[in-house]
Amino acid sequence: MTPAERIAELRRLIRYHEERYYVLNDPEIADAEFDALMQELERLEADSPDLVTTDSPTQRVSGRPAAGFDTVEHAEPMLSLDNAYSEEELRAFDDRVRRGVAAAGETVEEIDYVAELKIDGLSVALTYENGTLVRGATRGDGVRGEEVTSNVRTIRAIPLKLRIPTSSGASPSGSPGEPEGFAPQKIEIRGEVYFPRRAFERINKEREESGEPLFANPRNTAAGTMRSLDPALVAKRGLSAWMYQLVGGPEGPPLQGPALQPEIVVTTHSDVEADLQVGLQTHAETLETLKAWGLPVEPHWRRCRGVDALVAFCREWEEKRRTVGFDTDGVVVKLDRVDLRATLGTTSKFPRWAIAFKFPAEQKTTLLKSIEVNVGRTGAVTPFAMLEPVFIAGSTVSMATLHNSDDIARKDIREGDWVIVEKAGDVIPRVVGPVSSRRSPDSRPWQMPAECPRCGSRLHRAEDEAVWRCENTSCPAKLQRGLEHFASRGAMNIEGLGESLIAQVTGAGLVKDYADVYALTAETLEQLERMGKKSAAKVMLQIERSRTNELWRLIYGLGIRHVGERASQVLARAFGSMEALCAATTEQLEETPEIGPVLAESVRSWLDEPRNRGLIGRLREAGVNMEIPPDERAAAAVERRLKGKTYVITGTLASMTREEATAALERLGAKVAGSVSKKSTGVIVGGDAGTKAEKARTLGVPVLDEAGFLDLVKPES
Ligand SMILES: [Zn+2]
Repeated sequence: MTPAERIAELRRLIRYHEERYYVLNDPEIADAEFDALMQELERLEADSPDLVTTDSPTQRVSGRPAAGFDTVEHAEPMLSLDNAYSEEELRAFDDRVRRGVAAAGETVEEIDYVAELKIDGLSVALTYENGTLVRGATRGDGVRGEEVTSNVRTIRAIPLKLRIPTSSGASPSGSPGEPEGFAPQKIEIRGEVYFPRRAFERINKEREESGEPLFANPRNTAAGTMRSLDPALVAKRGLSAWMYQLVGGPEGPPLQGPALQPEIVVTTHSDVEADLQVGLQTHAETLETLKAWGLPVEPHWRRCRGVDALVAFCREWEEKRRTVGFDTDGVVVKLDRVDLRATLGTTSKFPRWAIAFKFPAEQKTTLLKSIEVNVGRTGAVTPFAMLEPVFIAGSTVSMATLHNSDDIARKDIREGDWVIVEKAGDVIPRVVGPVSSRRSPDSRPWQMPAECPRCGSRLHRAEDEAVWRCENTSCPAKLQRGLEHFASRGAMNIEGLGESLIAQVTGAGLVKDYADVYALTAETLEQLERMGKKSAAKVMLQIERSRTNELWRLIYGLGIRHVGERASQVLARAFGSMEALCAATTEQLEETPEIGPVLAESVRSWLDEPRNRGLIGRLREAGVNMEIPPDERAAAAVERRLKGKTYVITGTLASMTREEATAALERLGAKVAGSVSKKSTGVIVGGDAGTKAEKARTLGVPVLDEAGFLDLVKPES
């Protein structure tokens, strides 16, 4: 066997075992055996670097941490689904579907549906070209999402290469895995990235041990992880995925697979978000096909004939929802016959042929021991409930949110009450209300404290706000929460400087603002309680390291209202340095892509505060990085050359793929649209172009050939 043959065999074997382990949850070999296969492949690839391909399992974690994500436009909008909260609403949906089908002249006694468990995760769209994963994108606003290919590649349930059987049918049996065959040229597959409950619990355990705050729920953590800029971190977290939809690319070539008879042709109807395939005539067939291609498909789906079967499925899973290893918050119901979907079409927001049945929130009754208040980073003082621990929706709950004092007064929630607590969509639990019949006769209404529980300042609230605030700028609680955010992993990422150490250093007066962190020494830290020489040195190393952080981390860490991770990245890229950001006018801030007037105003007023300017000055003196690297600066300067322009690409380009051409245009700030309109700036026409080129000529939109396009995107010299 030649090295090339062995490499190919190893890749097939590794994918086979990955699927058994990460998708089917049914491993055939021990972890050590799997590692041995991986090591052998790594060794062979190291000997023959020219045989390394991007779809090799050794290349899952390849990208380096990025400065930000590119925005990509979806081939077709990713619509959300209408919801049903009760059996009645589900039956009403079935009525509408039957009427719609009857109106189209079809006589169908009972409608065939496919019911799938609704995954509580983050929607993604994967693009495969010639069977190889080339792009992963988040749903975003449904029209545009973020390009997260490097992160998607780290998810072991997702194949880097699809398994398409050969046409001859001569599949060499005996060896697991499938031979490489004829793959559809370009398809998009949609599904959900989620946190397996086991992986989520493991991560929270690790965080607890290292003194980091725990993640609240798997869905938000999955979403946050997918938006992490560091693929290596994503790989460590252990996300997984279930896929459930097949979509054709814009003007994509026919989807062909000799093994799938009759021939499949993907047609794209821009007004229908659907698995529109001739050949795959039902949704059930689509799911079977995805599975056959080696994609992860959640196995509990069922074909249901008629609404009664559907209701039974929903009831059954409302009971059994905790028996699967991931969070499910309902059942997705889709019409099985693909041709009928096209008949029903979509409303402006939802497809008419699908609905999401939501499980009711889980509720329990427990004792409200006391009502405490917490002072946040912005000084907001919020009440929360301390509860007699109670098990709800898969975890033990001992605290719940009470929103604000108005809400407590309106519901008349009192200390010592028995209360109903619920976990809706598995987010932070909340107190629904008291069980008044069980109230003790000597209970009294709860009163919001008049003073800050930490510094004793009188609390204030703005007329139009429900929130009380401590306005003392040097309130220790605010400083503490602010520092926790400043040092957090998403911001300055100072490991070891967690809640308890921050409480110690602020309590001892060692740190009065963020800049003081950089004045800490190993000697002072060692004198603190529970702080050995070793851990003090560790923290010092982390503080030292954080001085060279990317600029966006600092901007985010400052905790400016409304400025999240994404906005910080945008600001850093747009202005290039803290100095330039400080000098920016509100107008300049507003002109920055993705920065709206609220954000611009918030940034400007924060920077105008003399205290904050002083803080930035001291951070600069402490040697904290306040600039982006020169090469990124150069890129940022030319980046927006095609801002405001919209191009359409049609036909095949000789020098690059459609994805690469799109990326080249988007890098320069242009948008790439799927269809030609009068507003299009230009249409780029490759070989075998279809009707779009003609349409452009009819509308008088400029047409560029490949040479013209290359000229357009050529770097300026
Ligand atoms: Zn205070």
